[in-house]
Formats: sequence, structure tokens, C-alpha cells
Amino acid sequence: MDKKKKRNSQSKKIFIGLILGIVVGILLHTLVPDSHFKNDILIDGIFYTIGQLFIRLMQMLVVPLVFFSIADGCRNIGDTETLGKVGVRIVAYYLLTTALAIVVALSLASLIRPGKGMNMSIGDQSFEAVDTDISLVDTILDFVPTNPIEALATGNMIQIIIFAVLVGLLIASMEDRLITLGNIVTEMNDLMMGMTMWVMKLAPVGVFFLIARTFSNLGFDAILSMLSYMGSVLGSLVAQLILVYMLLLSLFVRVNPFKFIKKYAPVMTFGFSTASSSATVPLNINTLEEMGVDRKISSFTIPLGATVNMDGTAIMQGVAVIFISNAYGITLSPTDFLTVILTATIASVGTAGIPSVGLVTLSMVLESVGLPVEGIAIIMGIDRILDMARTTVNLSGDAVGTIIVANTVSAFDKNKFNS
Ligand code: ASP
Repeated sequence: MDKKKKRNSQSKKIFIGLILGIVVGILLHTLVPDSHFKNDILIDGIFYTIGQLFIRLMQMLVVPLVFFSIADGCRNIGDTETLGKVGVRIVAYYLLTTALAIVVALSLASLIRPGKGMNMSIGDQSFEAVDTDISLVDTILDFVPTNPIEALATGNMIQIIIFAVLVGLLIASMEDRLITLGNIVTEMNDLMMGMTMWVMKLAPVGVFFLIARTFSNLGFDAILSMLSYMGSVLGSLVAQLILVYMLLLSLFVRVNPFKFIKKYAPVMTFGFSTASSSATVPLNINTLEEMGVDRKISSFTIPLGATVNMDGTAIMQGVAVIFISNAYGITLSPTDFLTVILTATIASVGTAGIPSVGLVTLSMVLESVGLPVEGIAIIMGIDRILDMARTTVNLSGDAVGTIIVANTVSAFDKNKFNS
């Protein structure tokens, strides 16, 4: 009970940090004239430094936490059969929901038609499709690290996951010879969890400074001219959250989806403020545990999802394709739509969940159907706010998938969820 109260007050504090940040940011932007003090000392000095310090503390946890929690989780699961089941199910869920997300986005954007009448021209450049950089073979080969130390040092999530799974499974199978190593893995995992809790105490302050800076930098004129684009992205994100995720939770797990939103809100607030699903991994795993998901499952599926499952990002890319094709007056064929669904799904695999990464992979999606990449410049100015919103959907998708899959292998405690 005491613990629950504490948790509630912590989520309230994070939420208050968010609201205060928005208010202070907007007031600074609208009421305080530009000056050296406001721009350099306050916004890009104090706000930036404290916000980034907080993000870096979270990032500091990601690699060791992912490695030790997966190794420990696999050691505990022990049998490869359950792990295989979880792996296949979660990957199928991730791919299907991403494809579904793009379909939602393409449909809604085709109705709203953002960018219509903008009459952008790209001079005498041709529209011919350029070879995309995404190769399926390279993506698959890249799953296996040739040097695990390098994978850890560069934070290559999929490679870290593969290596950690093997370490965990082998410790389990060589149990009698690797007692000390097994204990070290478990204790390191406990240490990283403790550190996560400690860093999270700073979350309300971190969130305040991150958000205040974003909102004080945002130009409202830029937002106004891009309203139909932003509306299409936000509308599709809400549709994915409410129609797809909530429906999946009710259908497959038979729990109250609103309860999910209520309990999961701190993670969403955090993802919104940092615009990074990778930095949110520790909090995501912790919160899901409090909601009844066994860590053995979430410590594997959440870091994986932060890398390969980006439904919100895919939605932005689907809408951006329609927006740019409308703005430049280029008509897309049904095959182009299929290409977009495929490329955007593949593009989200293997890119880390960090701020703005969706804009980078968007260039591949645009190239795959021969749309001008310089179209990205039009949407860049307001991307930060959409990045925050789509990151929230990215993490929620990972969490919903984790609950669904955990439920299929009896690793989800419904009573704990409902309590
Ligand atoms: N910021 C997003 C994430 O971390 C990725 C993106 O769409 O840019 O999930």
C-alpha cells in the first residue's frame, strides 16, 4: 500500500513536471523577448544542460541493464522452448502492428490530404526511384555481432540481445560449473534495477527542463502552417493507441484497457518528454513488472521492441509520404503504397529508438517510391513535437505486445494488474 502511494505520487510529480514545463516554455516563447540571457543562458544553457544530464543518466543504464536483465531472464527461463515461443510471437506481433500502423496512417492521410495545394516544385530533378539503402540480407546479417564487446560499446541493441540470450542460456545449462558467474549476473541485474529506481527519482525535474526547452523553442507560425499534416499524424497515433492497442488488450488479454492507460501513464509521460524509446527501456520494464508482467519476458521483449518496433514512427512516415506527394503534386500508385508499407516496416527494424531517428529513415522510405527527399525540410521544423507523440506510441506498442505475449505463456499476473 505504502509502495503504491509512493508510486502514485511519483507519477503525479512527473506529470506536474510536464505541465509546468509546457506552461513555462510557452510563456517564455510568447512573453519574453529574445535576449542573450533568455536564449543562451536560460534555454540553451540551464534548461538544456539539466535536461540532457537527466537523459544521459537514463542512457547510462540502458546497455548494462539490457545485457544483465536479458542474461538473467534467460538463465531463469532456462528452457529454450518457452524462449523460442516468446521470440516468435513477439516478432510476429511487432511486424504486424507496424504494418497495420502504416495502413492506418495512409488511410487517414488519404482522407485529410495534408499538403494539398502547396505547389512545391523540385526544379528539374527527376522523380525516378533511387535504390534504397535498406537491404534485407544486411539487416539479417547485422543481427549477429562479430564482436560482442563492440556491440556493447556502441549500444547495438539487437546484437546485445542475441549475445545476452546465449550467455543466459549457457549459464543455465552449465549451472553446476558456473555458479559464481550466475550469481554475478543476477546481482548485476539487481544493481542496475536499483540504479534505475534512483535515477527515476530525478525524473520530474528532468522532464520539466526538457519540455520547457522544447516549448520555448517552438515557433507557432510554423505549427499553424503545418496543421493538416500534424493533425493527420496525431489522429493516426490516437487511432493506433485506441483502436488497435486497446482492442488487442481487450480481445487477447481481457483486461480493462483504461486501467492500462492509467497505470502506464508515467512511462508515456517519460517517453513524451525524452522522445527516446531506448532511454525509456528501464522505466518500461519496471512499470510493466508493477502491472503484473514477469521480468523474464519484458526484459527480453522491451529492449527488442525499442529497436525493432516503432509503430508511431511508421505512422509519421506514412503520413509524410502522402504529405510530400501532395505538396509536390506527385501521384502515387497502389504499388507505391505497398512499397511504403514494406520499406517503412523494414526501416524501423535495426534503428535505435532515439530522438529524430524517424526523420533519417524517412529518407529511405521517400527514395523507395521516388519522392524528393528535400521534402523532409518542410516537416523538420515541427518534427520535435511529433517525435514526442510518436515515441509515446512506440513504447505503448512494445508494452501491449509484451502483455499479450506474456499472457500466452502464463507470465502475466492479472490479479496484480487489477489490484
Ligand atoms: N524518437 C523515436 C523513438 O525513440 C524514434 C523516431 O521516430 O524518431 O522511439
